[in-house]
Amino acid sequence: MIFWNAIVVKLSGIWRRIRSRGRFSWIILAVAAFVLRGVLARYPQIVETVYARGIFVLIRNTFDYTLGRQPLPAVYFFGALMIFWVARAVWRTVRRLKGASNERIGFVVRDQALSLTAIAAAITLFFMMLWGYNYARPRISTQLGLRMAELSTAELIEEGRWAAHEAAAARRALVDGFEGNWPNALPNKQLEKHVRRSLVETLRQMGYSPPGKPRIRTFRAGGLMLHVSVSGFYFPFTGEAYISGGLLPIERPFVAAHEMAHAYGFTDEGEANFLAWMACRRSEDPWVAYSGKLRYLMSIETRIRMRAPQRSAGLLLGIPISVLNDMARIREYHQRFGGGIIAGSWWRVYDVYLKSLGVTAGTVSYRRMVPLAIAWRRLNAGRVESMP
Ligand SMILES: [Zn+2]
Repeated sequence: MIFWNAIVVKLSGIWRRIRSRGRFSWIILAVAAFVLRGVLARYPQIVETVYARGIFVLIRNTFDYTLGRQPLPAVYFFGALMIFWVARAVWRTVRRLKGASNERIGFVVRDQALSLTAIAAAITLFFMMLWGYNYARPRISTQLGLRMAELSTAELIEEGRWAAHEAAAARRALVDGFEGNWPNALPNKQLEKHVRRSLVETLRQMGYSPPGKPRIRTFRAGGLMLHVSVSGFYFPFTGEAYISGGLLPIERPFVAAHEMAHAYGFTDEGEANFLAWMACRRSEDPWVAYSGKLRYLMSIETRIRMRAPQRSAGLLLGIPISVLNDMARIREYHQRFGGGIIAGSWWRVYDVYLKSLGVTAGTVSYRRMVPLAIAWRRLNAGRVESMP
């Protein structure tokens, strides 16, 4: 009996050592993944060839033809797994601490802290491998040969007038009598199809070959997301993009296109906005087209108001009343969700996150949509007005 006990003690000692070594390996690998990200930042072309157009294509297809084929948002499975995991860890810890000596408690706490660090490291590592290295690929402006410049207020106003004209025309193309009554224009499935088709065409036109068939899922409890000012997100661990079910119907196409751009490996927020705008405006569905054009106009109008708050940007840009009403409606709707401290701190966290991944502009990078769009229109001058 004593003999067996000795063996069990010995074996569990070995197991504990393997486990703690395993946990250290996760931490070391995660640090290595970050260091690699730093090194790769110097070689964007290699990242494009090996990762974005190589490894990531494999990841994209694997997700889209497995999890993407089943009807439920895969994040629910992921969430359930996490809850189970955490509950098990808590239960085990409680059991280990029951009637334990102070010395033992100290050991268990240190052990659990190591486990938690290892889990965080594993999540970081998988995040980088499944999507994160796309942060190091060349900018779209480089791929397209766009000349990016700081925009003057006059240039912004000029672009705003053009955008107002576009939005007004798209607004007129919508079904008559929708005044004050925004139908849920496109069911989810169709929205996804329309947005994907337009986005794929857009990317091909730019010389990319978008892989797989990424999914857009809608969160039923979408109001929760809007409270922290998040309309949607891409989740690299399930390969799916999620949009808030609380969005107004007219916002959904643009947000869906933005998240799908992330799913295709475009990490930059400004680029995702730019791609979403391009994809929406070429769509044959009038709701999708208007969604993109309205959002573009809104972001120019916001910037003009920030620069010259004493002037009415609406009047300055000649925005028709129907479009102005839609803009006001969207803003009022989102103001209802407040924002507040939680939203503020969330955005600060996201800013730090982006900067840690090499996006020096942080959350300000969202605004790059307008200069990208202007540079693109200039490059395609002549073909621009009729540009699909
Ligand atoms: Zn985004």
